[in-house]
Amino acid sequence: MEGKNQKDDKVKWERNFPRCPQCGSGETVMRESWRAVKGEIPHGVYLALRSAAVPLTLTPATTLSLPFVPVLMASYDICTECGLERCVRVEVKTIDSRTIAAAVGLLPQPGPQKRN
Ligand SMILES: [Zn+2]
Repeated sequence: MEGKNQKDDKVKWERNFPRCPQCGSGETVMRESWRAVKGEIPHGVYLALRSAAVPLTLTPATTLSLPFVPVLMASYDICTECGLERCVRVEVKTIDSRTIAAAVGLLPQPGPQKRN
């Protein structure tokens, strides 16, 4: 596989959990619904129902002071065989700190805002 990661999307560590720990199935709601709507999943494309990112920095100020920050990203999906919601992947990667700042509301928001 080619290592064509963007500078702001470089995976430093990862673990995949391809099988459901309860029933052993490898199918997930996201993968099945993708195929139902769009056909085969392109090689190398990773799908998950939801993800949560946690910055691996000590404080929000540290996060904002760096151009790129390491984050732990955990992805979850639902098993189509037994319905269990399970973790499908965890990874540590670096992302643009402005992405995090926007996500947690630390960047100026558009529209008029009055300060008292
Ligand atoms: Zn299952």
